[in-house]
Amino acid sequence: MSEHIPVQQLPVSRKLTPAERGGKIHTRSFSGVFRRLRISIAGVLALLFFGTAWINWDGHQAVLWDLSERKFYVFGTTFLPEDFLLLAFAMSISAFLLLAVTVIAGRVWCGYACPQSTWTWAFMWMEKITEGDSYQRVKLDAAPWSLNKLLRRSSKHILWLAASLATGIAFMGYFMPVRDLVSDLVTVQLEGNYAFWVFFIAGMTYLNGGWLREKVCTHMCPYARFQSVMFDKDTLIIGYDAQRGESRGARRKEEDHRAKNLGDCIDCHMCVQVCPTGIDIRNGLQMDCIGCAACVDACDSVMDKMGYARGLVSYTSERLLELPSAQRSAIKPGIRWRTSLVAYLVAIAVLLAILALGLQAREQMALSAYRDRNVLRTNSLGEQVNVYRLKLTNKTQQIQTYQLTLASDKPLYLTKAYQLTLAAGERLELPVAVALKHHDPIHNRGGHINFNFQMNNVNQPEQTIEQSASFIYQTK
Ligand code: SF4
Ligand code: SF4
Repeated sequence: MSEHIPVQQLPVSRKLTPAERGGKIHTRSFSGVFRRLRISIAGVLALLFFGTAWINWDGHQAVLWDLSERKFYVFGTTFLPEDFLLLAFAMSISAFLLLAVTVIAGRVWCGYACPQSTWTWAFMWMEKITEGDSYQRVKLDAAPWSLNKLLRRSSKHILWLAASLATGIAFMGYFMPVRDLVSDLVTVQLEGNYAFWVFFIAGMTYLNGGWLREKVCTHMCPYARFQSVMFDKDTLIIGYDAQRGESRGARRKEEDHRAKNLGDCIDCHMCVQVCPTGIDIRNGLQMDCIGCAACVDACDSVMDKMGYARGLVSYTSERLLELPSAQRSAIKPGIRWRTSLVAYLVAIAVLLAILALGLQAREQMALSAYRDRNVLRTNSLGEQVNVYRLKLTNKTQQIQTYQLTLASDKPLYLTKAYQLTLAAGERLELPVAVALKHHDPIHNRGGHINFNFQMNNVNQPEQTIEQSASFIYQTK
């Protein structure tokens, strides 16, 4: 069993952190290796989010969830409501993957890939280019209203609103063809429900990225609430090496701080000033830490300036932090296999296998048949006739021609021949009449006959599916 570590707030910090003081957190900008990594990952993810909807595949939008048609197009494949079990498997795999990643690497998702964090960083950047760095923003907050303040504030909000609207359009571009969406929006012809969702998503983006920011992570996100249960002593966390850093205190660079019984922490508060959630990592592991490593970059730059070794704040684990510094090098880096991790990985492997089998077995066409209970009639030959409502679906993204036949060892036949051409992804509803040749004596008692409808792809004869049905007849 894994050893769960309780998340705790330790009252060590001498100054109140921005989070403890409440109010707005003005995060200081910084540079460093983890910031560059985060920007690169965010850039790729943003490109995927804003760009994928504009890719066409086989003459069709590559990824589109067409709600009115109840079809989900993904790079040449059309998923229908009956395929949504596969989608449930795919989502379960993602959930288990997130759990496994959390056990190994803590809140790496929050720090590097979560849309809330990514958008918050982007909104903070827009705030910086319009209102200046953190100390300028504090001054601007305190300053009385002036033309300068009005211009800076309004340009920030214009940028925020533009980014939010772009997000709303990009998001809804996965639910309605994005080119139509943009042109309908520009010509003010967008349907009311789509317009509502575009502006709703834009409004939520503006609120979450511009105003709520870290409060979403610390108070609203359910993932943040339950992940402390998944953390154990070997989970990768951002940690402060108190053995090396304490006792903290200011000193001159050239001073021998060890002689003054000082550790490597110069108590500059840079790690606090750059923290987007406004906490002090020196107080220990806290639920509010989103694992962004901004404090690592900040402290490393301070260590560089002081001529000390990097890593006073670093990626580490509770197990390493508890060990005396001299013994830490004996711990080999690598993943420690624990029960929870193995269980998650097994679940992922099983679900992946099921998903792969499901995708492989997935038909390229679909056929369903329902007998019309109110239609029992006879034709001009006096034969009994049943009428069925058939639903035929072309799940491919090419035009296909299908032939409909009937398979039965009894004298049943289709009253006419059916050769049907369906467009890519088209679903067709069709009334079909089946007749029973009347001279078979065994049928004179009345009852039902089971048979199959068959649907064949004319151009690819190996593609064929059957749908069972029942023919009801009456005693003469
Ligand atoms: S940035 Fe480093 S040196 Fe400065 S207060 Fe934080 S831990 Fe101490
Ligand atoms: S403590 Fe460090 S890693 Fe955690 S949220 Fe703050 S800056 Fe990011």
